[in-house]
Amino acid sequence: MFPLQEIEQDILEEVILPERAGVLGSKNYQSINGKILKTTRLAFCDSCGGRLDDNKPIVICRTCGRKLCSSDSCKFELRGGTYCQEHVQQMLPLSIHGFEVLRCVLVEVDPWKVCEFAHVTREACKEALNELLDAGYIEKRGVFPFSTYRMRDRAIIAWTVYAPAYSRDGDIAHFESELANHMQEREAKGCR
Ligand SMILES: [Zn+2]
Ligand SMILES: [Zn+2]
Repeated sequence: MFPLQEIEQDILEEVILPERAGVLGSKNYQSINGKILKTTRLAFCDSCGGRLDDNKPIVICRTCGRKLCSSDSCKFELRGGTYCQEHVQQMLPLSIHGFEVLRCVLVEVDPWKVCEFAHVTREACKEALNELLDAGYIEKRGVFPFSTYRMRDRAIIAWTVYAPAYSRDGDIAHFESELANHMQEREAKGCR
């Protein structure tokens, strides 16, 4: 390796490229016909592709080593660790429709109302309900058509992990306003 100062003087060309996933940043010098080609790789978030620099905190997924920006939709915190969306979903799965169903159960609104509030089919709503039952987030009480759903402790953990990310979603914002309208009407009627 040559002394760095000497190399800098002989640099013919400098190329700046995005860094590979999982690597924070690197510099590379190549000698081509006695002239030096310098390649600098800059860090970008391996999730959203946003530029990472020294002024913003960078976090690393504990499972895969992806580098992540501090945006709520890129980094997820669970039991003191930080993870990318893919790996938090592996440990504690929760889809966006599952999140909507959970939100209804939390405020004691019929979860089937998700069809209306989020404009999804009954099939998609059923799938989300099953997902929550399978993950042990909710439990069913009573027999159809009088069955109700109750939230379990595990759901609170999932809720806390995903709420910052899903709350930024435009569809969720629309869903929330529909739910708020419904709850206002319910209150006005004095019943559920
Ligand atoms: Zn990001
Ligand atoms: Zn990961």
